[in-house]
Amino acid sequence: MATTNEPIPEVFSATTEPYEDLLRQACETALAYLAKLDSASVAATADLAALRAQLGRALNDRGIPAERVIAELAADAEGGIIGSAGGRFFGWVIGGAFPAALAADWLTSAWDQNAAVYATSPAEAVVEEVVGAWLKEILGLPHQASYALVSGCQMAHVTCMAAARHAVLTQHGWDLDEKGLSGAPEIRVLASDQKHGSVARALRVLGIGRAQVVDLATDAMSRVIPEALAEALEKTSGAPTIVVLQAGEINTGSADPFEALVPLAKQHGAWVHVDGAFGLWAAASAQYRHLVRGVEGADSWATDGHKWLNVPHDCGFAFVAHPEAHRAAMMQRTSYVTYDGDARDEMEWNPEWSRRARGFATYATLRHLGRAGVSALVDRCCAHAKALGERIGALPGAELLCGATMNQALVRFPDPKPGATEADHAQRTDAVIAAINATGEAYFTASMWKGRRVMRISVSSWQTSEADVERVVRAVEGVLRG
Ligand SMILES: *Cc1c(COP(=O)(O)O)cnc(C)c1O
Repeated sequence: MATTNEPIPEVFSATTEPYEDLLRQACETALAYLAKLDSASVAATADLAALRAQLGRALNDRGIPAERVIAELAADAEGGIIGSAGGRFFGWVIGGAFPAALAADWLTSAWDQNAAVYATSPAEAVVEEVVGAWLKEILGLPHQASYALVSGCQMAHVTCMAAARHAVLTQHGWDLDEKGLSGAPEIRVLASDQKHGSVARALRVLGIGRAQVVDLATDAMSRVIPEALAEALEKTSGAPTIVVLQAGEINTGSADPFEALVPLAKQHGAWVHVDGAFGLWAAASAQYRHLVRGVEGADSWATDGHKWLNVPHDCGFAFVAHPEAHRAAMMQRTSYVTYDGDARDEMEWNPEWSRRARGFATYATLRHLGRAGVSALVDRCCAHAKALGERIGALPGAELLCGATMNQALVRFPDPKPGATEADHAQRTDAVIAAINATGEAYFTASMWKGRRVMRISVSSWQTSEADVERVVRAVEGVLRG
């Protein structure tokens, strides 16, 4: 804790150079961290109590020199920083950050732009125009679609489904802006029974309750069954309807059969929204594009920049095939804000007001990779996921439950004792995952799939190499040998 006799640091002094030493120090600290990624533990090494003890200082009365604050922050956070920036992190679906993206993100912080409208950051507004067009091209989405760069896929859902809600209620003669949801025709949402939790949360935020959501049955690979959608559409025929499908189910990585599902939904006048947080990126690869065939026929798409594109966090993308619905849902005009007729005023498309200029990092990443680089990133991650699933699944004591069709594979570690139950297999699987993570060599997370406890293998970082795959297989083998 800082003592009260320390002098007030000269934070407001115009005569000292406030940045030079400090930013060099931060840069060196970051470089030292990144250099150690390959040898340090992937999992956190400090527990909750240790982190609270390290970081939980009393708020000081007097200021502390910035250099000391940064040095102590880095030291105190140590052990609590997960190695998700490295190549042997396969938990959840996190993604790494390309050096070009990280560098652009640092500039973004230095520029400290408010990307609310063109007037508050002209360069960012233009970059978002450029990036929006590039992303639609790479993902194979309609070129007239409107878009928004948001904080992540969660807010992309909110943005897209706010547009959907507006459109389906307008279709039914309801003035949502004037009357809100009170007394409105009830919206029906038909959604995959394997939908991500962020979909349910977006619906809740938008005033659509659980009772209005119909679960659509899925097949063995967690894909919505066309007959299930047809039946649900028949049942709710005439109601304002939003169908929620996905490209990249969190366990299997499967995409719904859009070619069959989208036209069906359209016949019934439904709006089709796609959760493509990571899986929509299959569209960027000639090898994997077929998995999402027909996705371009949907009405809105939510995806992430911070997952598979490997842009630093705080980056998602919303696309809407009907710009007028998108704009109607998000537009907000105020007398003190300067709008520009011709330029892109981001606020008209985003759920946020003041916001990070997150376009720069995406711009840098897409330019750095080019079309071929994005495609190679997808292919490489998928190949590593396939290899990891097959090789870990082939180890004595392991079982491959779902090989990678995209960038996800599922294995488990059955309890070998005779008469072992699902609960025993689950316990054994959790114990093996914990033991793998404790080696510091790799990091995996568990999930439930079709009633079974599984270890998910999600590969979404540019950093994962063939050497990493070897090293991880050896580490898992070591744990299984005991
Ligand atoms: C991660 C994820 C989300 C949520 O995205 P955020 O960027 O974390 O907001 C939604 N859907 C799926 C399938 C995901 O994997």
